[in-house]
Amino acid sequence: MRKPIIAGNWKMNKTAAECRTLITELIPKVKDAKCDVVVCVPFTDIALAAELAAGTNIKVGAQNIAWAESGAFTGEISAAMLREAGAEYVIIGHSERRQYFGETDATVNSRLVRAIEAGFKPIVCVGETLDEREGGKTESVCKTQVVGAFKGISADAAKGVVIAYEPVWAIGTGKTATDDQANETIGYIRSVVKELYGAAVSDAMRIQYGGSMNPKNVEGLMAKPEIDGGLIGGASLKSDDFSYIVNKA
Ligand code: PEP
Repeated sequence: MRKPIIAGNWKMNKTAAECRTLITELIPKVKDAKCDVVVCVPFTDIALAAELAAGTNIKVGAQNIAWAESGAFTGEISAAMLREAGAEYVIIGHSERRQYFGETDATVNSRLVRAIEAGFKPIVCVGETLDEREGGKTESVCKTQVVGAFKGISADAAKGVVIAYEPVWAIGTGKTATDDQANETIGYIRSVVKELYGAAVSDAMRIQYGGSMNPKNVEGLMAKPEIDGGLIGGASLKSDDFSYIVNKA
């Protein structure tokens, strides 16, 4: 059985003072969770979030990682910096990075290689746009993104990576994929992982759903056999909503 994982993606929200309030509220509300609980916070919140979450079941993640170890990469953040700040997880290839910041399957792959080398637990995001879904390209887009992300990565390393299936049309829009749509596409992504690495890896790998997951739809989504948790944007910013989702998973 795969242990579900619920990860909050705070995106570019929460100052350090706001981070303190949210984590402090969350700690008692998620303490009995049966799933892994992660908050992926802005870089400036990582050290504080890690300090507040120390000794609790909340793990801290970042939202990006550089492929280089150090050097002339203005605006990037290195594995060593993230580790020292206290991050354990890292989101790679979120659709907002692909859409607004030029992230490609090749850069996602480079970042994933570095994250694995440096001992992080990566959450790799894949998913189709509305045009691609309506054009019948959901599977081919997801396959290209998964194959591209995992290029050169061993089966052993791949097993520990989490994939987040996030249809772009469902992110921040209030439109959720139906339980069946999410289950079906995640099942397809698992079959791609099986083609790449075999059944032992595809059976072990956790694949989350992301896209307007909230307290109203979490139960239906989590009841589906292929869905191993969620990557939560908007609903991760309020302790009541996020803890509700965590406690249903
Ligand atoms: C996300 O940012 O990964 C996400 C799924 O956002 P939201 O839950 O707001 O759609």
